[in-house]
Amino acid sequence: MNSTSTTSQNLEVHDQKVLNWAKEIVENSSSPRLIQKEIINAVDRNAIWRGQECLNLLAPEAPTSPTVRQLLASEVGTRAAEGHIGPTQRWFSGTKYIDEIESLCVELLKKVFNCNYADHRLVASMIGNMTVYAALTKPGDNILTIAQPLGGHSSNRYDGPAGIRGLNIYDVPMDPIDLVVDIDEFAKVARQVKPTLVTLGASMTLFPFPLKEMSEIVSEWSGKIFFDGAHQLGLIGGGQFQDPLNEGACIMTGSAGKTFSGPQSGIIVWNDPTLTKPVCNTIFPALAATHQVNRVAALAASAAEFLAFGKEYMAQIVANSKALAKALHDRGITVLGAHKGFTETHQVIVDVKKFGGGLDVAHKLAKANIITNKNLIPSDKPEDWDYPSGLRIGTIEITRLGMKEAEMDIIADYIVRVLEDQEPVETVRKRVIDMRSGYQKILYCFD
Ligand SMILES: *Cc1c(COP(=O)(O)O)cnc(C)c1O
Repeated sequence: MNSTSTTSQNLEVHDQKVLNWAKEIVENSSSPRLIQKEIINAVDRNAIWRGQECLNLLAPEAPTSPTVRQLLASEVGTRAAEGHIGPTQRWFSGTKYIDEIESLCVELLKKVFNCNYADHRLVASMIGNMTVYAALTKPGDNILTIAQPLGGHSSNRYDGPAGIRGLNIYDVPMDPIDLVVDIDEFAKVARQVKPTLVTLGASMTLFPFPLKEMSEIVSEWSGKIFFDGAHQLGLIGGGQFQDPLNEGACIMTGSAGKTFSGPQSGIIVWNDPTLTKPVCNTIFPALAATHQVNRVAALAASAAEFLAFGKEYMAQIVANSKALAKALHDRGITVLGAHKGFTETHQVIVDVKKFGGGLDVAHKLAKANIITNKNLIPSDKPEDWDYPSGLRIGTIEITRLGMKEAEMDIIADYIVRVLEDQEPVETVRKRVIDMRSGYQKILYCFD
């Protein structure tokens, strides 16, 4: 091996073992066509394993309807449509039907979120957060955001868009037991720091925020509240969580592929007309050009599904997470928020320190076809990122496949069998495959 490749190998951020597997194929296949076949094979392996044989309990994941998936592969995905909607607002001609698709998407989003303005061009919610920081803050401004062990997300911290914008970031004070904002501490810190923006963005999210009280406090110096509802977006649209835009947040972003159950991408909504130009003129031309019209069509289709089924679907998601949390708790597992009814969202947070920590437990469960993720919890430090004590469990996918409270009891049982080594992982895996075989159809859609 020559010195250049050794250097590049040493600087690689990805896992070298898997890269080497791929390199072997790319370098040694007899034709590019065979390499392409390897890609398709990996996609198919995933579709069978994750798509048919697993209990996917990842909190940020949702299965999309057949119609939404079909639209993601549609012809319109090859068209360029940069700019705003309309014949003079875009750079290209030939976009009259694309204007229709995008307008339907915008109006559907306004209806689902009961708001005055929405944008459809965010290829990720991260980009929505960058949009908000670019449009509503200046470098050097103070902001308050939630630290990661208390549920915060990198997009609102120094290592994400907020950091890239050059903001000074202070922590939103959170109560580590009740897992909500400590409003008295918040009043103190906020009055001292006088943030331009307070971001409420939580990847670990169990309970609502005291938004009204917080917005009254920051209004003393015309501070604003930004609700990063990446996770709760669907619950909000389905009326199963608080309604941030009505309770004092001036703008909200969210991931379309988490509880909202549409194509993975971002949504941004607001009511104040004075925000429209700064926000939309940041999205284009700063952060999106070809914004994937196939994805916009899929997003619009999922918003239509949401109008018809969102309320019922989201209510069942929350009922399932409460049932799963209780079933785990009843089997002696430490579930966060137990003293407050465990959860008001799609998430269940478990302390698995005594079982070896989140990383080991998540990989062990994956061997039993139960997919979860390691998670920081309040007893961890930010630097425990790779080896945290918690496990995050979500009920979006199992709900969309038709499971209800009774099935949560069975799933809790399987999880505990693995955690407590009551049964070989391979035996639990067989039980999971068998159970999952009865739930193969996507519900809460028109298909
Ligand atoms: C997932 C998440 C994001 C990023 O969303 P993407 O759609 O994956 O870009 C942003 N903020 C929070 C709080 C999240 O949990």
